[in-house]
Order: sequence, then structure tokens, then C-alpha cells
Amino acid sequence: MIGLVSVTAAGARAAARVAAAWPDQTRHYEAPAAEAVRRAWVDCDQLVCFLATGATVRLVAPLLADKHTDPAVVCVDEAGRHAVALLGGHHGGPGGESGDGANRLAERVAAVLGADPVVTTATDATGLPGLDTLDLPVEGAVAAVSRAVLDGDPVQVHAEVAWPLPALPGTPSDRTAVQPGAESGTESGRAHRIVVTDRALGGDDRTVLLRPPSLVVGVGASRGVGADEIDRLVGESLAEAGLSPLSVGAMATVDAKADEPGIVAAAARLGLPLTTYPASRLAEIEVPNPSSAPLAAVGSPSVAEAAALAADGGGTLVVPKRKSAMATVAVARRRPRGRLALVGLGPGARDLLTPRAVAELRAASVVIGLDQYLDQVCDLLRPGTQVHASGLGDEEARAHEAVAQARTGRAVALVGSGDAGVYAMASPALEVAGDDIDIVGVAGVTANLAAAALLGAPLGHDHAVVSLSDLHTPWEAIEARVGAAAAGDFVVTFYNPRSHGRRRQLPRALDLLRAHRPPETPVGVVRDATREEESVVLTTLADLDVDLVDMRSVVIVGSTNTRTVAGRMVTPRGYRWLQP
Ligand code: SAH
Repeated sequence: MIGLVSVTAAGARAAARVAAAWPDQTRHYEAPAAEAVRRAWVDCDQLVCFLATGATVRLVAPLLADKHTDPAVVCVDEAGRHAVALLGGHHGGPGGESGDGANRLAERVAAVLGADPVVTTATDATGLPGLDTLDLPVEGAVAAVSRAVLDGDPVQVHAEVAWPLPALPGTPSDRTAVQPGAESGTESGRAHRIVVTDRALGGDDRTVLLRPPSLVVGVGASRGVGADEIDRLVGESLAEAGLSPLSVGAMATVDAKADEPGIVAAAARLGLPLTTYPASRLAEIEVPNPSSAPLAAVGSPSVAEAAALAADGGGTLVVPKRKSAMATVAVARRRPRGRLALVGLGPGARDLLTPRAVAELRAASVVIGLDQYLDQVCDLLRPGTQVHASGLGDEEARAHEAVAQARTGRAVALVGSGDAGVYAMASPALEVAGDDIDIVGVAGVTANLAAAALLGAPLGHDHAVVSLSDLHTPWEAIEARVGAAAAGDFVVTFYNPRSHGRRRQLPRALDLLRAHRPPETPVGVVRDATREEESVVLTTLADLDVDLVDMRSVVIVGSTNTRTVAGRMVTPRGYRWLQP
């Protein structure tokens, strides 16, 4: 529950907007302020105070008890311009999940009110990932290691388990496996370290353990099994194999047991999703300990072991079947599913790079693309991100590399200008990607859209986009398409219109259009749209000087309906045209 505390009329109005956005999660407390804050403090996990920071500090000071149980507090100023994370940056509120603290709340409130979030927790303010905000369980010396990261002290990253995580702050260690309880020694003394592992290592005062959900518990049981019995067997299996319960990501069984109350309750208690598989699928999986009892009961010679291994991509069995009176349990380490984000960076201007694209760049540990595009965004990447920059050409190699990196279980971003799917890297990558990785597409603002916005509204009705590059497409095919667009009276945008080596294509394409459009048809040439050297020229089919055009330009040719109005290129919607 989020308590909204307001005193003034402006504060009450802003609080009402937040309440309207999240009706089921908010409760509004009004003046007198001290009483309102006291009541909200008791009732709620999070407070948004529409009060000055000074007033809020004085009101909450006597109520402060413990960083782990105090509510998160965000302040919003009288003008509604700032949402300030005041208290409980990462972990506000009793039982607060990582990422649910005041920092996140400030961002959410700011989004509702159109305000700027103000976040001052050190790791957020410096753009480093707070170790407790990676959406993974984390144990150990979080404060000490975060401090070392901020101070620039050496931090080693040991990835025992590959998982699609953002870049972690530190130096990857060659020695990935860490001895249980062993201290990390270097020549210059003990280094801090971040260990990505599902093993139950004893930590020390310089080690953080990140827990990827890499383990799957397979469960079989007789009818009427108790949840306690399953719980106990799971706990023993993990403990004996030296595995951490925090790394168990799922429980799995056969379809026939999907409603077995003991299994359902055990999964719920452990907070795990329960996945079930048809017996026919489980029967196909090779296991070390098949037996005849489950074959007779449900139709598969293995339930626990086969279900643990049945996740997409398979895995390796780390705890073979263990039995109690009525249950069987086995544990597998599943193959990590890598992810590949195809990220459009927009035409150039930083504010045309979408927040979603920024989030994906920061979620990746490997970023791949043309050097000129990577230069545009390198300041946004997390420290420690591997950057694979390449020159023009070798598109296929770049696409293959991105997919291969994702297949190893990493989080990869493949970037391109404009939209990554428009004359760019998304299709070569998806031509070779299998269903063994997750794909995330992030739309970008294309050169066509950016240029059109600068020219006016040339794309107000049907339009066609044609690339004049005949490096990979026969020129006859391009000509045929331009001819068809000309005959169809489409507004036409030309990409890749002209380069040193390709000079005759654009004049030829314009001739094809001239056969169907009058000489006064408006033509826009936009070079370096939204970049520093942007130039915008509006001319006509008769007057166009092709020497203005190069590979950093797009050319937009109007249809027979397109007009120039007050120096702007306008294609009417079609159903109505108001004569100027
Ligand atoms: N994926 C990009 C297109 C890449 S093809 C997109 O969605 O826009 C490269 C061609 O795009 C260039 O030859 C040029 O024609 C055009 N282009 C890309 N960025 C541009 C910009 N900022 N201004 C003008 N044209 C641009």
C-alpha cells in the first residue's frame, strides 16, 4: 500500500492524480501533516509526501526505526516538478523486494506526474548497477562490495554459472570456480568479489553471492503426499549437493500430478512456479534411474529426474533421484537461455533514443554494432560491458557473432541506427537465430520518420520506401519497384540514395517518377537528420540538384497530391483537401 500525504490544495491535486493512476494501491491522508504521516507510516509500505523535503524529514525523523522495515519515502514538491527519493532507496518497506524502494517509486511517481525523478543513492547516481537491483537474490557483503566498486578498488567477478545478466562492475576472473568458504587472495591483499553461483558457498566479509535461478527441482509423488514431506526432501537434496535454495527457479512434475495438493502447496510455499509435462514427453528423456513404478502409474519410467531435465534447452542432472516414503526429488541445472535485444538507436539525436532502448543497452553485458553507432551511446553502457565494434560491411559476421554470444547464455544487444529492423541488422540476425534464445525487439525512430518530421507532413498518405543500393539487390528489381511506386502514385522515400560509386541510380529512379508526376512535385532532401550537421532542402522534381544527395541522406518525393504549404511539404489525408 502506498500512502499519499498532502497538505496544500496543489498537493492534494497531485495526490489525486497518483491515486487515479493506481487506485488499488494507494490511500490518501490529508492534513494535519504530522498526524497524516504518522498514520500512513503505520498503514503503508511506501509514502509519497506532497511536502517540502525539510518538512518531511522533520515529520518522519521521530518515526525512524530500522532501514529494513521503515517505509520508503518519496517527496514531491509543491509545483510537482520533482519526485525525490528520500528514504529507503533500494529496499523501502517491510519485505520490500529489490528494486521496489524509493528510487523506483520516485521514478513511477515522476512518470505519472510528468516530474523529474531525483535519486541520490550512490550506485544509482553513478550509473552502476546496485548489486541488490539486478532482480536476483543476493547474499553476503553487499555494502562492502558496493563501496569497493564506488571507490574503484579491485573487484573480481566469478561467473560460475552463465546467466543473461547486465555487465557486473569488476574484472572477470579466469578462475571461475570458487572454493567454498575460501578467501579470495591477490598479491595486493584480499580482493572484493562478486560470485554468480547456485552453490551454497559460505561467504566472507568481502564477497557477494548472486543467485541466478539456474536450478529446477523435479518432483514425483504418490497420491496424498504431504507438502512437508516434499519440502523436507527438497531441502535435504539441495543441502547434500551443496546447492543454494535461492537458486531454484522452478519446480516441475508430470501433467498427471498438476493438481496433487501436496506438490501444489510445496511449490507455493517455496515461491516457485510449477511446470508440468506430458508423460509421453518425460518418457523420451534419458535418465540415470528409470523405474517401473512411475511407468505403471503415470506412463513414464521417470518423473522427478525427467521433469527436472525437461525444461527447454535441457540441462544436467546435479542431484539424481532421492526418495522418501511418498515422494521423489531430483535437481537439474538448466541451460541458461541467452537473450538478444535488437535495438534501434534512432536517427542521431539523443532525445530520439527511446528510454526502452537505453534500458536494453544497460541490461546487456555484450553490445555489438557498427563503431559509429556505438560511439553515440558508449556513455550509456554499464561499466564492464563488452563492446564489439566493427566497421562497415561484414554484416553477416556481426549478426552471427551476436547470436553466438546470446547462445552462450549472455544478454546481448545488437544495435543499429534508426530502427534495427529497417535495412539493418535484425533480419540477418533472425535468419540465423534459433528458438534457443530469447529475442527482444526495440523499435527505433527511422531516418524516414525523422526526415519527414523535418520536412512537414509528407507521409500523410500512402508511401513506399525503396533502397537504391544495388550491392545486394539486382538493379532491375529496384527499378521495377520504383516503377510500380511511380504508377501507384505513392509518396516515395529513397534510402541509400547515392554514394561515390553509385551515381546513376538516383537520376534513373527520379526519371521513372517524372514519367507519372508533374515537374513541380515537391521533393525533400534531408541529410544527417537530427544530427549536428543536419540539412533540410525542400525543392521540386524539376529543380532537384542530385549533388546535394549522399549516403547520409534520404530523399522524399511527393505524390501528385503532395503540396508545399508555407514552405512545408504536405501530403493531404486524401478525403479532404482545403485549398490554401
Ligand atoms: N536502420 C536505418 C537505416 C539504415 S540504412 C533506419 O531505420 O533509418 C542507411 C541509410 O539510412 C543511409 O544511407 C541514409 O539513406 C539513411 N539514414 C540513416 N540515418 C540518417 C539520417 N540521420 N539522416 C538522413 N538519412 C539517414
